[in-house]
Amino acid sequence: MIAYLERVSIPEPEQPTGSGNDEVLTLRNGLEDLQLQGGVEFGSTAAYAGKDFGGMQLTKPLAVIKPTGSEDIAKVIKLASRFPNLTVAARGNGHSVNGQAMAHHGLIIDMKKSSVDNYGGNSQDEVDVHPQSGCADVAGGALWADVLKRCVPYGLAPRSWTDYLDLTVGGTLSQAGVSGQSFRYGPQSSNVTELEVVTGTGEIVTCSGSENPEVFFGVLGGLGQFGVITRARILLQPCPKMVRWIRVVYSEFSEFARDAEFLVSLEKEGDSFDYVEGFMFVNSDDPVNGWPSVQLDPNHPFEPTRIPKCAGPVLYCLEVVLHHRDYVFPTTVDTVVDKLLGQLEYCEDLKFQLDLSYVDFLSRVKVAEKEAKASGIWDAPHPWLNMFVAKSDMPEFDRLIFNDILRHGVGGPILVYPLNRSKWNSRTSVVLPDGGDDVFYLVALLRCTSPFPNSGLSVEEMIAQNREILQCCRRNGINYKLYLPSYNSRQEWEQHFGNQWSRFKERKASFDPMAILSPGQKIFTRNQ
Ligand code: FAD
Repeated sequence: MIAYLERVSIPEPEQPTGSGNDEVLTLRNGLEDLQLQGGVEFGSTAAYAGKDFGGMQLTKPLAVIKPTGSEDIAKVIKLASRFPNLTVAARGNGHSVNGQAMAHHGLIIDMKKSSVDNYGGNSQDEVDVHPQSGCADVAGGALWADVLKRCVPYGLAPRSWTDYLDLTVGGTLSQAGVSGQSFRYGPQSSNVTELEVVTGTGEIVTCSGSENPEVFFGVLGGLGQFGVITRARILLQPCPKMVRWIRVVYSEFSEFARDAEFLVSLEKEGDSFDYVEGFMFVNSDDPVNGWPSVQLDPNHPFEPTRIPKCAGPVLYCLEVVLHHRDYVFPTTVDTVVDKLLGQLEYCEDLKFQLDLSYVDFLSRVKVAEKEAKASGIWDAPHPWLNMFVAKSDMPEFDRLIFNDILRHGVGGPILVYPLNRSKWNSRTSVVLPDGGDDVFYLVALLRCTSPFPNSGLSVEEMIAQNREILQCCRRNGINYKLYLPSYNSRQEWEQHFGNQWSRFKERKASFDPMAILSPGQKIFTRNQ
């Protein structure tokens, strides 16, 4: 059973040493004896680490450690190894949705570094830009938003992003980290050349593709199982000041997919758009799921009379971005855009575009976050479902899932866009759909729930619908893997990893043999 398919009531795991307060006191004393450079929080001040963005799980950590460096983390992991059943979870920004960064009755290492804007910290210490070598050394707990802020003054920026930037570098590298640049550069995990990692034995290791490669590839997409990423060397590229953000609409999935796959096949910079994503939306005036979700500019609303008469219950939007580079604005930008769009067959007159700064484009979800926080939606549960689906099965997925089960939407974005398998390194721990397709699709159901009574699906109904979707995929032989996976049983994890399970298990045995790290993933059980 997939974890997020159930609203979880967490079974009480054993206390660290099985016997309550005395042992907790011993642990407290043990933590004090470590003389950490950073701080330790207990009780109600540690409670925040028992929740996450998903809002569907609640746990009680014993303590939260705020480390100031790798040595602190190594000491904490070594201490944990002396307590039977005690686990340790690195917590990035807690933006998982199924308790993956939690450790019930365990220790949380709060990796997130204070950001300049929000917390009065100094992102300069966390992001060290090397303009000459085109890379940056970045703390594992730095937010991508701070990486951007520190790189842009040098005219540089990372090549590969996520849509939302208040996620930590270590948190997304432990998954993959995908967005509209991934077709060209691969996920974020394909854009790091060196890491510093504290393994589950408390060893501090520098690793890369050639130095300690098993640690390096293991932790990339490794779901926090093999070590805590404390520093990453990230590849940078020159960044533009301005971009053009464009959306075009399709009534047929086959046409949307043909054009999206054409664009992602043009991998060379300058040959195509610099960002390619897409989403499905409902063919109705529903303000969240329908036509209004497409427009970029209130002065240019969606004109429903332009939708072809033959359109079904759902429509598709291809979202692309062109970096202005040194093109003359607006003339050359217009020419390049027109040439690229001229090769596509979207619905005539259903085109939306906006010129904005590169930083504003990358920060676009922050605007949505502010609105969602104000309405209470940000803090309400998020029963998300993220999948990678084989290209050859997308027409069937479209018919069975988009046009049927999801024909009324999910109360939030439904992302769907192609990615090139060749940009993913098979030595990392990330799992992609089996089979020979060069292209596979990201499908992300970014469900939002209302904090107030409304006519939409309840959290439980959304969770049940996620279950129905996966059952439907299995019944119809649709080849998929979960992205940001979450399962409850070992058997399901073995199935998820398939022929990569033995490698994953061996990596665990080598780098975290006592299964101390990231218990919230529910893959391994802490052992002596
Ligand atoms: P956490 O949720 O805190 O941790 C996630 C896992 O990583 C846990 O198992 C934790 O133990 C482990 N971990 C955390 N830090 C470290 C570390 N330093 N070393 C080792 N392990 C660690 N994903 C995409 O790919 N693309 C997107 O566009 C995207 N957009 C998102 C938008 C929003 C609003 C949200 C909420 C999530 C989005 N995600 C996206 C998913 C996101 O990448 C993952 O949930 C990611 O794990 C969250 O990062 P975090 O820093 O909050 O990690």
